[in-house]
Amino acid sequence: MNGAISDILNTTVDMLPATSGLTIKRLKAIGINTWEDLLNYFPFRFEDYSLISKISKIQPGEIVTVQGSIKKAKQEFTRKGWRIQKITIADETGELLLIWYNQPYIMRIFTIGNSVSVAGEVKQYLNTLIIEPKDYEILGLKFTDTLHTGKLVPIYPESRGLSSRTLREKLHIVLNHLSQHDQFVNTVFEWLPEKIRVYNQLTDEFSAYQQIHSPKSKKQIEQAKNRLGFDELFLTQLSGAIIKKQWKKETVTHGFTISPDFMAKISHFQSSLPFILTNAQKKVIEEIVRDLQKTTPMNRFLQGDVGSGKTIVAAVAAYVAYLNGYQTLVMAPTEILASQHYATLNNLFRNLAVKIALQTGAVKSIKTKTTSEKFDIIIGTHALITKKLQFPKIGLVVIDEQHRFGVAQRAALKQKGLNPHLLTMTATPIPRTVMLTLHNELDLSVLDEMPKDRIPVKTFFTPPYKRIAAYEWIKTKITREKDQVFIICPLIEESEVETMQTVKAAKKEYQHLQNNIFSKFNIALLHGKLKAKEKNQIMADFKAKKYDILVSTSVVEVGIDVPNATIMLIEGAERFGLAQLHQLRGRVGRGQKQSYCLLFTSSNQNSNYKRLEYFAKIKTGFLLAEYDLKIRGPGQIFGYRQHGYDDLKIAQMSDLTLIQKTKNAVHFLLKNFSLESVPKVQTKLKKFTITQVARD
Ligand code: ADP
Ligand code: MG
Repeated sequence: MNGAISDILNTTVDMLPATSGLTIKRLKAIGINTWEDLLNYFPFRFEDYSLISKISKIQPGEIVTVQGSIKKAKQEFTRKGWRIQKITIADETGELLLIWYNQPYIMRIFTIGNSVSVAGEVKQYLNTLIIEPKDYEILGLKFTDTLHTGKLVPIYPESRGLSSRTLREKLHIVLNHLSQHDQFVNTVFEWLPEKIRVYNQLTDEFSAYQQIHSPKSKKQIEQAKNRLGFDELFLTQLSGAIIKKQWKKETVTHGFTISPDFMAKISHFQSSLPFILTNAQKKVIEEIVRDLQKTTPMNRFLQGDVGSGKTIVAAVAAYVAYLNGYQTLVMAPTEILASQHYATLNNLFRNLAVKIALQTGAVKSIKTKTTSEKFDIIIGTHALITKKLQFPKIGLVVIDEQHRFGVAQRAALKQKGLNPHLLTMTATPIPRTVMLTLHNELDLSVLDEMPKDRIPVKTFFTPPYKRIAAYEWIKTKITREKDQVFIICPLIEESEVETMQTVKAAKKEYQHLQNNIFSKFNIALLHGKLKAKEKNQIMADFKAKKYDILVSTSVVEVGIDVPNATIMLIEGAERFGLAQLHQLRGRVGRGQKQSYCLLFTSSNQNSNYKRLEYFAKIKTGFLLAEYDLKIRGPGQIFGYRQHGYDDLKIAQMSDLTLIQKTKNAVHFLLKNFSLESVPKVQTKLKKFTITQVARD
């Protein structure tokens, strides 16, 4: 094979013609290093500028592309200091005024005599029709092919100064270059075996890339998504199947046995708990205990709704490790949660000799001088395994509120010479079918039952005029019943991480509540920009009832357990996904008292009302996830992104048909081919696995 040809996709973006150093830097900053990376940077929507209209035919409200030559260009200044750019273009049917606001560079680009193509909505302005262009291109002296107008135009997730325009231009260069040489297309593309491609009626790979980045019709977009989504789901499942095979061959570094004596101790531990385990908890504990006795490492994924009692299940598993003389590592996503687990486990094991360490940025039980061997359970954040600490006696690793399913963690542990049992836990309601097919390397356990004494949280969707009454009611609840309250501030920006603006808004709300509403009560403020130590202190004080009210950003979302808190007030509820709201609501209703969740919104949108009203009625995460799946359409399972479920770039987690198809295809491949006989599949898989692990 010609080396140069097969390597074409590895060409770095430095080699893109007519591309500035800054653009190259920006491309690399979002992980686009090669032409292949560029091809795999997919648009998230399309703007339809395909209606090309003569000037005399345009209608108000239409989204159109108009082409003509520039007749006049002038800039006007308003009294308020605005600058308005007015460009007049003409075709053979008439003249049209284009207007921009405060875009002085337009004057440099739109010079008289040039031909242009502009796209946007037609509007009425002082009795004439105008366009405020959304996109444009200069066609020079003659009309040529367009890239940003006159067609279905891809819109890319723009980040770090990279515009969709730039991406379109660079992709155009790459696709153009490739399509001019048959040998590139034939040698480099189509990694799927022909039989699988034909059987599943898939567009060929190169056409799919052309169609997603430069579609000629909506149908082409669908075909391309179907093909590229197939690839993604196929690779996810193939890598899962291969990982499973490898894992099956491995043996644990530290094997456990469960003698009758141990069995008695485990039963005794369970009966010493302040509550009776649910049947679901008992069933899952049995599944885990069975796994722990095997010589192959456990890879169990435990799903259970908020408050279903996952922690105790993990504690029993850790106890088994302890009885066998081995350590357990417990990893949580945040330091707050780690210190909470520390408190909970200390409490659960208070009558036993189990020694527990907390190892976070703020607290370090294991000092450089003490060895980790003094402890039986070591709790920290996910950073624990990347730390220099050596844990020679780790038999079990528990990963709480984590979605990455342990592939990267297992790899990291193996580098330390460890191959322990692994238990990953989450409350995020990924539908079972999706879970089983997409991550078939894992064994799945589900806590599908809530503890019996739980009183369901009453949820109220509170209109603005009831705000004052709601505050008064909260005051009575605190004074009479010593209840505690969470007040969650809205996300100010659409961002997955907490921004400064969100924090600022929370501070303001806190001051307002402290000064004007709840001045007689003790209020604390919690947000993500506080130091870990401060956060822990605030949570501990809240738990110890030193505060009546905790005003917080959504950092309290995952896992916090304060049984005496009975009221969860959520501001700007419409800004949260249902899964996130469900997590927030799960912060109350954890004790013996009736709890309440109050939803406040600042939006008048009907669809939001419907969504929130549904939320008020429905108590289980799985139903809410299904609802999100239905109303928000495939792909947009709201709240998944916030929880990191964005592994899929183009396929949709809710596309069960495609998941099933790819599952069958993987099965077919593994049955009929050896991987060695399909080198293109091997190469593709290798690249896929590398990017997956890199994203962990
Ligand atoms: P999650 O599954 O959300 O992690 P936790 O493990 O934090 O839930 O448990 C939530 C609360 O329920 C804790 O206060 C815990 O002590 C309590 N709990 C757990 N199991 C039971 C049970 N079987 N009966 C009553 N309460 C339970
Ligand atoms: Mg939990």
